[in-house]
Amino acid sequence: MKRSLSICQAVSIEIVSPHMQEKNVAKLKALFEYVNNDALLAKIRTDPSYNEEKQVIAHNLDVIFQNVPALSSIVDVKSTCNISGCDRPRVKAEGKFPGSELCASHHFKKYMNQITSPQFEFWLKEEDLRSIMMDWLATEAKLETAHFIGEVDKFRAVSRKELRAQRAPGIFQRFIESKAVKLEDKEITELKAAVEAKEGVPSTVFDPTVRELMVVMQAFFLEKFCKTPAFAAWKESVMLPPEIHKAVKEATLRASKAHQASIKSSQEQAKQEIQEAVAKAQGDGEGEAIPPA
Ligand SMILES: [Zn+2]
Repeated sequence: MKRSLSICQAVSIEIVSPHMQEKNVAKLKALFEYVNNDALLAKIRTDPSYNEEKQVIAHNLDVIFQNVPALSSIVDVKSTCNISGCDRPRVKAEGKFPGSELCASHHFKKYMNQITSPQFEFWLKEEDLRSIMMDWLATEAKLETAHFIGEVDKFRAVSRKELRAQRAPGIFQRFIESKAVKLEDKEITELKAAVEAKEGVPSTVFDPTVRELMVVMQAFFLEKFCKTPAFAAWKESVMLPPEIHKAVKEATLRASKAHQASIKSSQEQAKQEIQEAVAKAQGDGEGEAIPPA
């Protein structure tokens, strides 16, 4: 939706600019900017109280893209899966399922694990979930932890030794020394020595700290966030298309019966049955294999 809105914005402004007064062009720009911002789009996507807005925006974008030839040539409107190289059709909206930018198999792969065993890292890094996560972390006074993890990600990518030696103490001061991110005294002392080491600072200097924080945050996320209405609403919104949902449920039931017969092979069998069920529901007999949950 974000990409469609951005393209729509660019093309519309270009089309109307020669025919409109400057102040009206500015108004149109402001309107686009209001709608096309991450926080609002995330809410529209996942908050059920925005369902009506979501439908209106999606419908209008569809109409615009289908009727303006200049746009349909820019954007792939043949409604295939968003994963590059995959040309299977996107799953369409059906019943309560709002549809997906992915095909059934990729949608299943991407979200099934997040439904059965949600990951903090996924929420922190997934473009359209990040702002919901950041809002929540702010209310839990954990925003600095997320910022620290983000800074470390950037730091890890710094290839020049001199730059690392310059930046590491800054990150240390801002997050660790300031106690914005709380660590044990011993760890703080060790990290301080590491970021000031004369022999240079490795790009992995903060990694053990981040790993530790991720474990703590994952537990906190499961304990708190996964019990919020926001999470429940999101789960609803990405649930599997009804047809696949049904197939998976049936396969799981069969696998659990098989489980009673043979405990050892049940997991393998469950996986295989679910894969087969998804492939079947998708209507292409040779659906791509789905990796284990
Ligand atoms: Zn796909």
